[in-house]
Amino acid sequence: MTTINSVLGPLDTAALGFTLMHEHIIGSGPGILQNYPELLGARFMDRVITGLTQARAGGIDTIVDATTFDLGRDVSVLAEASRQSGVNIIACTGWRFDPPRFVGSWSADKFAQLFIREIQEGIAGTGIKAGILKSASDVGGVTPAGETVLRAVARAHLQTNVPIMLHSYAPGQVARQQLAILKEEGVDLRRVKMDHSNDTTDVEYLTWLLEQGCYLGLDRYPGFNVSSQARTRTMKALIDAGYTDRLLPSHDWSLASVIMEAMPSAQEERERRNPHGFLYLKKVAFPQLREMGVPEATLKRLCVIGPRNFFEGI
Ligand SMILES: [Zn+2]
Repeated sequence: MTTINSVLGPLDTAALGFTLMHEHIIGSGPGILQNYPELLGARFMDRVITGLTQARAGGIDTIVDATTFDLGRDVSVLAEASRQSGVNIIACTGWRFDPPRFVGSWSADKFAQLFIREIQEGIAGTGIKAGILKSASDVGGVTPAGETVLRAVARAHLQTNVPIMLHSYAPGQVARQQLAILKEEGVDLRRVKMDHSNDTTDVEYLTWLLEQGCYLGLDRYPGFNVSSQARTRTMKALIDAGYTDRLLPSHDWSLASVIMEAMPSAQEERERRNPHGFLYLKKVAFPQLREMGVPEATLKRLCVIGPRNFFEGI
């Protein structure tokens, strides 16, 4: 058992329960909630509390909120959402892809200090602490500013033992670059989860990643470009290969988003494709796995054993 930081304080890993390892309660931009909350639509907090309460009733115990500072993270709002819904929420520190160019002018050590403060003392004067580190690289690979953040995340991890989540671009196998940098920094790759890994169906590549030691975030459901069924078939192949406890399925869903709010038709389409929100895995993907012959005992491990092992560093 290990104690980790949730937005409501210390949480035993034994209490994580059914955990979604990559979601967004609210997706926006830095300062939006404080300055222009109307961009999230009227009564967005009601939608957040309703969505989380439904998730809790459907058996979701814990959500890792992958919303960094630059995606509009507000930990006071997350704490309120957790209090009202009963869902444990883990907040992250770090930066998403495309950090401003000035980031590359600072040293990785400087940013590591900032991230460590958010883990050990709290975020923005709230005393609410981050429980996971995040860095991101996308289609362009690891950019200079992205490398500063990635190295900072690695160094903050080595000092705090808080694990790392990496947004990656699976079709371009960008994780190869990310892992090479983490290895240079001396990070044990068993403390790393490679996110959005189910944006590819290349089982050979995914198996290579698992063999490096890292966990796989199969965290886009229903997702785009790759069909939900193809994602499930890929997960089945990895389960059959013996990796059940290293797979971290999730949705990369959000309950309120400035992008979706701006595009009502896209929002409708998104809700048509996933009317279940944070319960899509339980309502759609797990039954598909069951039909494919995955034993009940294995299904029960998904979203339970992997998240706990990941936070405990197993
Ligand atoms: Zn995300």
